Amino acid sequence: MKCALVTGGSRGIGRAICIKLAAMDYYVLVNYKANEEEAEKTMSLLRGKGGNGELLKFDVGNKAQVTQVLGGWIEKNAESNIEVLVNNAGVKDDVLLMWMKDEQWDTVINTSLNGFFYVTKLVLQNMLMQKYGRIINIVSLSGLKGLPGQTNYSAAKGGVIAATKALAQEVGRRNITVNAVAPGFIKTDMTEGLDEKQLRSLIPVSRFGEPEEVAHAVGFFASAESAYITGEVLSINGGMYS
Ligand code: NDP
Repeated sequence: MKCALVTGGSRGIGRAICIKLAAMDYYVLVNYKANEEEAEKTMSLLRGKGGNGELLKFDVGNKAQVTQVLGGWIEKNAESNIEVLVNNAGVKDDVLLMWMKDEQWDTVINTSLNGFFYVTKLVLQNMLMQKYGRIINIVSLSGLKGLPGQTNYSAAKGGVIAATKALAQEVGRRNITVNAVAPGFIKTDMTEGLDEKQLRSLIPVSRFGEPEEVAHAVGFFASAESAYITGEVLSINGGMYS
């Protein structure tokens, strides 16, 4: 069975990516941390479009949970291949560095950067054996240019961008590509508190993006035809200079 794993697939960008990959005939493993109701909603939307998949609940930043739940799934489903991995789970907790608490630094770094490491390391073993894989990391404009009030988030996403470029060079020979997608302002729960009308003036396209517009780019990187594109970071931000 051809599988795709999307971390943080219960809401927002991750949900749109799950639906996109299901449309590409992947059996989608929808990971989430806590929000079961929303995860079920992703699954029913995906099934409504003729796709299929299952839910996998684990915290990407918790190595023991990743090993137990994802490692357990891989062991039990030895005949299935996770061909596509989308490291999408992420959180932000914005505050100026001088007021940042240790937990705010740790949670944001742990989810995006350590989560990337724990999940990718597990999934990569089989991709290496199969000599095929597509890894797509959801980063951010913040990780490219740095944004004030987001030193934790910029560091986490900047770290994943550098890891994308390094890993792409390690595994290219095995027909595994590793790319990143860097969204700007996308309409999800994460940007709910932001004033689109006020921020519009910063965006050449003059609006926030839709999750489906990010999913479209992920589908491009996930396709077999994108075999000669690796180590790239694609901005999806309505033309904001980065
Ligand atoms: P949302 O806040 O809408 O959704 C976050 C998703 O991540 C949820 O599915 C949530 O699961 C999951 N999640 C959070 N922490 C963990 C964890 N520790 N383990 C597993 N799953 C977790 O976010 P977006 O859809 O907006 O963002 C998706 C990605 O895109 C993130 O990496 C974000 O940094 C990035 N991004 C978003 C931008 C935007 O404008 N929205 C801009 C640039 C980048 P649950 O439902 O269970 O809580």
